Amino acid sequence: MSFKTLNLAPEILRAIQDAGYKEPTKIQMKSIPHVLKKEHVLATAQTGTGKTAAFVLPILNHLILNKKKVKGPRILIISPTRELANQITDSIKTYSRYLKIFSVTITGGMSYQLQNKVLSKPVDILIATPGRLLDLHKQRKIKFNDTEIMVLDEADKMLDMGFVPDIRKIFNATNKKQQMLMFSATLDQEVSKIAEEFLKTPTKISIEPEALGHSNIEQSLYYVDNQSHKMNLLHHFLSQDNVNQAIIFTATKRLADKLSDDLYHKDIKASSLHGDMTQNSRTRTINRFKKNGIKVLVATDLASRGIDVKHITHVINYDLPRFAEDYVHRIGRTGRADKNGYAISLVNEIDKEHLKKIERFTKLKINIKTVEGMEPTKITAEVFKKKRGRSGKKRPFIKSTKNFKNSANAQKRMKSKNKKNNQSTTAKSAKE
Ligand code: AMP
Repeated sequence: MSFKTLNLAPEILRAIQDAGYKEPTKIQMKSIPHVLKKEHVLATAQTGTGKTAAFVLPILNHLILNKKKVKGPRILIISPTRELANQITDSIKTYSRYLKIFSVTITGGMSYQLQNKVLSKPVDILIATPGRLLDLHKQRKIKFNDTEIMVLDEADKMLDMGFVPDIRKIFNATNKKQQMLMFSATLDQEVSKIAEEFLKTPTKISIEPEALGHSNIEQSLYYVDNQSHKMNLLHHFLSQDNVNQAIIFTATKRLADKLSDDLYHKDIKASSLHGDMTQNSRTRTINRFKKNGIKVLVATDLASRGIDVKHITHVINYDLPRFAEDYVHRIGRTGRADKNGYAISLVNEIDKEHLKKIERFTKLKINIKTVEGMEPTKITAEVFKKKRGRSGKKRPFIKSTKNFKNSANAQKRMKSKNKKNNQSTTAKSAKE
């Protein structure tokens, strides 16, 4: 199917062609016709699937067909994070390059002076994070009477971040005749509840679950014994020739800073990205990363959505995320636009519950691997023992994992080498 069959204006088709897109992605094929028909749409789609264009393209088409002189904003796009808001803004710029569209981005961390200035002109599209937008509305610096389309992007994340009350206040101030579009990575009860509240008999769209698995991303996990084992593996992965650019995810801001400092001192161009940094320095860092001035970005989950850098070959989960959805978002930073990517997770004992949640959510068993000479010691053996279950029978997951067996053999080697009591106990279980 080509973009031409979607009934988009020639100016938009030209911009799509410039962007190098050959055909619409699944979410675009399924959503665009409904958005063009002015239906309310509830779409379940992961990041990396082309979901931004799925709402931006028909929105631009609407603006072309319906020229109006109002103060605006005519289109209101709400994003949970500043990074995602900036990414949406970039996409709008790309797709509207042959149009006269005035779009404005309002996020926390931006100077009020600048925001007041940009809002003094009529606004076609406003992309915003909820907190700052509501502040401006309370100060009567902005009104929402002219909204024609409102988009809630990554609604599940907004829920997680506690933004629903703010969004409700914003929504209550908007034009009730507007078309509502809601995008979410997941569609659980909570998301369905807010969809019911904000959308009128929406058309529900979901892309095939296979997309959850990110088939162009090779996912693997490595069991680790401790932090220094993690660090050694990390250095091993980063020294491989196939690493172009990488994002490493850590659980805390402090660890992100520490890791990036460590890497920097080992002559790897690394930088951290987290919520304690000012918006300016976050944007600067992302821009340097985009321009390949940084090889490794060490980030917290703040960056798991909204970073769209085409040449990221590796995502490394130094720590696993707390929420399974975040795993999908994190690994979606690589394999962008159908390129291949690698997602590596370093997993220790305390991560096992998170791992189970991730595997349930993605409906995938992540391949367990080891690096020769850097096999885990006690952890592998313990996990191996537990995965057998009470009957003592191996589960197929373990049976089929060749590398895992190899690491059990590594246990045996370790046992005879070290002859330490605790190791011999765990190694024995691994052998059973
Ligand atoms: P998103 O899911 O919106 O974050 O988009 C993921 C990536 O896919 C971005 O880098 C887009 O530029 C790219 N993209 C979006 N639509 C297409 C398409 N039809 N063909 C190729 N790449 C696309």
